[in-house]
Amino acid sequence: MTIEPSRRGLMLVLSSPSGAGKSTLSRLLLQDETDLALSISVTTRSRRPSEVEGVHYHFIDPARFVTMRDRGELLEWAEVHGNLYGTPRQPVEASLAAGRDVLFDIDWQGTRQVAEAMPDDIVRIFVLPPTMAELRARLERRAEDGADVIGRRLANARNEIRHWEEYEYVIVNEDLQKSLTAARTILRAERQKRCRQPSLTQHVARLLAE
Ligand code: ADP
Ligand code: 5GP
Repeated sequence: MTIEPSRRGLMLVLSSPSGAGKSTLSRLLLQDETDLALSISVTTRSRRPSEVEGVHYHFIDPARFVTMRDRGELLEWAEVHGNLYGTPRQPVEASLAAGRDVLFDIDWQGTRQVAEAMPDDIVRIFVLPPTMAELRARLERRAEDGADVIGRRLANARNEIRHWEEYEYVIVNEDLQKSLTAARTILRAERQKRCRQPSLTQHVARLLAE
């Protein structure tokens, strides 16, 4: 017998210092998890060469950002590495209500705000690099930011890492495939939680009535 999934979607948050690999992990996770949608943030940062408007971010100017924020259109927002970032509220609420899980690539400040607003929906994963030297090497290999931007991100990395204990799951991203398996496993286990299977109440009642 099929049990109709009438559950609310969950919010899977990935945070890490810049360069640890959370965008790479997100992309791979989204490729094989069809029931997972990416929350596309708004940002005042300039677009990197490889980025596409509306796919990686909505690139907006600071005035538009402030308008959205002041109208309550952002679920959370933060200043990170000197730029403003925020999560548009409406698409997230629509996905969750439709039972679709949503993936967020947001920093610790945004994660705190979401955890306060929606404590039952959030699942937090922090991604750590294997070493600080490897973090630097990854930022340099990515080659999408200038030396000054890389320097600023490395300087912020320690500050970000200090928030690792605010997350219930932690992945040390050394081997990408292993990290991907870990993220997938976390998502599957969280979906399986009793509280996320409301239709089971009816199922068990039917079992007991047989
Ligand atoms: P973030 O989104 O956390 O800033 P990215 O996903 O952009 O980081 O990754 C930074 C760079 O490191 C990219 O060039 C990516 O291909 C590379 N990378 C990611 N994970 C690994 C890994 N496990 N091993 C080696 N390189 C990795
Ligand atoms: P990047 O500029 O490398 O894309 O992102 C820089 C940092 O901003 C990362 O830590 C990323 O997780 C974070 N970030 C991206 N979008 C959002 C958002 O909507 N809200 C918050 N709070 N952080 C974000």
